[in-house]
Amino acid sequence: MKSIFYTRFFILLPWILIVIIVIDIDTKRLSVRNTASFYLSRLGNVQQQRQVVRTTRSSSSTTSSSSSGSNATSLPVIYAITPTYSRAVQKAELTRLANTFRQVPQFHWIVVEDSNSHTELVSRFLARSGLRYTHLNVFTPRRFKRTGMPRATEQRNLALGWLRGHRSVKDKGVVFFADDDNTYSLALFEEMRSTRRVSVWPVGLVGGRRYERPLVEEGKVVGWYTGWKADRPFAIDMAGFAVNLQVILSNPRALFKRRGAKPGMQESDFLKQITKVEDLEPKAKNCTQVLVWHTRTEKVNLGNEPKRQQDSVYIEV
Ligand code: UDP
Ligand code: MN
Repeated sequence: MKSIFYTRFFILLPWILIVIIVIDIDTKRLSVRNTASFYLSRLGNVQQQRQVVRTTRSSSSTTSSSSSGSNATSLPVIYAITPTYSRAVQKAELTRLANTFRQVPQFHWIVVEDSNSHTELVSRFLARSGLRYTHLNVFTPRRFKRTGMPRATEQRNLALGWLRGHRSVKDKGVVFFADDDNTYSLALFEEMRSTRRVSVWPVGLVGGRRYERPLVEEGKVVGWYTGWKADRPFAIDMAGFAVNLQVILSNPRALFKRRGAKPGMQESDFLKQITKVEDLEPKAKNCTQVLVWHTRTEKVNLGNEPKRQQDSVYIEV
């Protein structure tokens, strides 16, 4: 009697185990799905409408695009390229920028982190920003991180590469280099939106002067009002020009240079590759209005910060 019971038990045992395993796998799948939808619902409606694409290569990219955006209007898209790096004021800078950019129609933010990977701070920030964005990263080699050396060369070039790989002749757009510490008026974006090839305008608080500007005669740029290196072919700051997307695409080799680059010559060396001074399109009332400021954020004083964390919670700043 006992032996019949044991034989039946051992025949049934594997089947019971299989059933338990199958049920377990199914509940796990369900809970993964539930966790995903929990986070999606927390991100809210805006985020759910977005399509997130991830690629991982030497530098990775996350693109988030509003599904309703592309066909909503025929306005050219403004692609603002922002290099950024981790420091105490980074989130404050990005917050100021996002608050401005959110008010600009047909806007696509290309944020390029100077880091080996996407940081959690910037990833979270962008996901919650409500903006259409592409998140890239590339680390500046240590040897280029010295005073006097041009900054953010690799980051701007990576963004240009992304545009060349992801946009085509069908796309209408204007490309602008928006550093994370400058101040941008909304009017600036409407000025640059009509850029046919390369447009220019004054920049406030730069070059040791209240402003720098292109000098315009009869609608043409004829020289530069600047207090610094006036002999540059294009004596203009990064914030002082925009380029039509098609010009970026049709000049695939135009890049910011490291080799042979002299300090302060980044803009001029880049513009030389894609245009001539006489072809520049003056904006902002023939370059007589300041709509962007080369502001610089004071280095923050963290002199009283404790060596080891004292607070009972960790707070992202
Ligand atoms: N930047 C960067 N890595 C660095 C230094 C600067 O990505 O090591 C970025 C910075 O966030 C900004 C841009 O490059 O968007 C220009 O830097 P910064 O404002 O310091 O230059 P400046 O205004 O003094 O020319
Ligand atoms: Mn700056």
